[in-house]
Amino acid sequence: MATIDQYQILRDLGSGAFSQVKLGKHIETGDLVALKIIKDDDSQNGNTAETFKTEIEIMSDINHPNIINMLSSTDDGTLKEANGDVKENVFYLALELASGGELFDFIAQSGSFSEPVARFYFHQMMDAFEYLHSKGISHRDMKPDNIMLDNEFNLKIADFGFSSKTASNQSFKGTRSYMAPEILIGGEYHGQMVDIFAAGIILFIMVTQIPPFQMAHPKDGWYKFVCSNRMDKFWKYHGQNQPGGIEFFSKSFIDLINWLFNFDHTTRPSLSEIKEHEWYNGPVATKDEITEEFTKRQAMLDQCSDDAVPETDVPQEVYDSKSVHRDIKGNVEDSSNLPVLHRKEAEYIACLGSFTKFFSESPLEELFATIAQFAITKSSDYEFSASEYSIIMNIADESEQRVKLQINIMSAGENKHCIEAVKLAGDRFQFNDIYKEIKGFFGGHINTTA
Ligand code: ADP
Ligand code: MG
Repeated sequence: MATIDQYQILRDLGSGAFSQVKLGKHIETGDLVALKIIKDDDSQNGNTAETFKTEIEIMSDINHPNIINMLSSTDDGTLKEANGDVKENVFYLALELASGGELFDFIAQSGSFSEPVARFYFHQMMDAFEYLHSKGISHRDMKPDNIMLDNEFNLKIADFGFSSKTASNQSFKGTRSYMAPEILIGGEYHGQMVDIFAAGIILFIMVTQIPPFQMAHPKDGWYKFVCSNRMDKFWKYHGQNQPGGIEFFSKSFIDLINWLFNFDHTTRPSLSEIKEHEWYNGPVATKDEITEEFTKRQAMLDQCSDDAVPETDVPQEVYDSKSVHRDIKGNVEDSSNLPVLHRKEAEYIACLGSFTKFFSESPLEELFATIAQFAITKSSDYEFSASEYSIIMNIADESEQRVKLQINIMSAGENKHCIEAVKLAGDRFQFNDIYKEIKGFFGGHINTTA
């Protein structure tokens, strides 16, 4: 098994523009952590290392219950690959593990939140903001991908790679769909204002399950209503996607969102104004109600399928020609003298939450053929792992937007397997749509639960 310093590397947790995130287990204490390992091979140089350094500097100064805290960091790690290769000077952070999974996968798979549940999470987010802003820190990449859960369903803000300690900023950082208009238009902006704008988008998604606009730019089909003071139209159209139309939204919700989305950042609410707002002070779900809600929805997601088992017909050449070895940083390795089809089933780790997984008692090879069948039907850009029952696929939608995802089949007990999807790149909503398709494709193979 691969190791990095005192951690065993158990599996992939996710991936971002600059990093591979792995599940690590401390060799002595057995504690589980997230290891964020720099992607760039030349980790001592370049922008990526700079980004990592800022992240470390800011995270060293942070400790809050609704933020993923950093445990340690080094640019001098020793990585030992499973095949015996050793790499020195590896740059990585050990982070507190967010073991409850991704909040937005949960919403995408199980439905939007009632306002009291959304308020519970919005309060936690504002608590974290208050803490960060009191230290002069802005996050600058608030978006669904960077909001995770701990094992008690509390919100945890992740990814301080773009964070800043200066009030006034100019660099074009963040993710377009969650950027405030002043960044999109160019020029100087205030990092903390931009966080509050993104928090408005996140709140909107929690309550509706869909984004409010594609981009906060005056030319955007939806955001133009904000700029032209036609919020009545904005809500009328968004109401059409909800049961009961516009009545679905409470008056105070509409009022707060309108305020948060203001084009002019000087008229947007401050943190203290948000905390005084009527919507903020409405009924909040209790811890017990949150637990009950999650348990109920998880049971719904775990339901076995009544559909037929899909037929598969994947020629052997497909596996042979598309099977590759990858190292821990995700680079393809020369596998010319390695046996291609010598796979081992990875172990499912029960304490790790994820809302994009299901279970099966069907034979392993049949499950692997099913995912291969899905891949060849949906994409021409995919590869099989040569060492595990795992596949990486690139899938594009009609507008050529790409999502990169990994599907792992893991052993979850005798004759039982867990099939899990992990997003590697692209849009979180699109990833969730593809996961739903995969789940549908497996049909009758979904015949047991955890
Ligand atoms: P990047 O800066 O490269 O975008 P992130 O910090 O956002 O990297 O991490 C990438 C992905 O890894 C996240 O979207 C998440 O799925 C996973 N991840 C990151 N940190 C943790 C953590 N502490 N616990 C569990 N998973 C994590
Ligand atoms: Mg990220």
